[in-house]
Amino acid sequence: MPRELTCIFCKIIAGEIPCAKVLETDSVIAFLDIGPVAPGHVLVVPKEHYTTLADTPSAILSALAAELPRLARAVRLATAAPGLNLVQNNGREAGQVVDHVHFHLIPRTHNDEFRVHWPRKKYEDDAMERMRERIANGI
Ligand code: AMP
Ligand code: ZN
Repeated sequence: MPRELTCIFCKIIAGEIPCAKVLETDSVIAFLDIGPVAPGHVLVVPKEHYTTLADTPSAILSALAAELPRLARAVRLATAAPGLNLVQNNGREAGQVVDHVHFHLIPRTHNDEFRVHWPRKKYEDDAMERMRERIANGI
């Protein structure tokens, strides 16, 4: 199982440092974020070390995604928060601090302080079609 000696999540998975674990399967671990955006903020982490979403094999992500509905239900039950954000950061520019791919489950309540600044822009002329083509051709 790939692991990085210096990775904090690999150390948690190996049991070398503690975590507030809520779920563990053969391939996935979920535990409370130590610096929660809201109480009940959970991190869902594949046990194998991959850095970003783009590096992670589909089968690993499928196993992780399969756990999300029951985790979402349990977080809602525990916190009574009516909303939930699934957040996944890739790269420093996107706010990734721990270089072991992971998903945040963040309970949301009315008027809480969590904000995603989402400045919407417009495509000019045929820029949308050119971008569609570039992405579609890269798959
Ligand atoms: P990201 O910015 O997406 O890389 O998020 C990394 C998250 O890991 C942050 O929200 C941290 O609070 C959290 N974190 C870092 N170290 C630990 C730890 N030892 N136990 C639990 N959560 C941690
Ligand atoms: Zn790791």
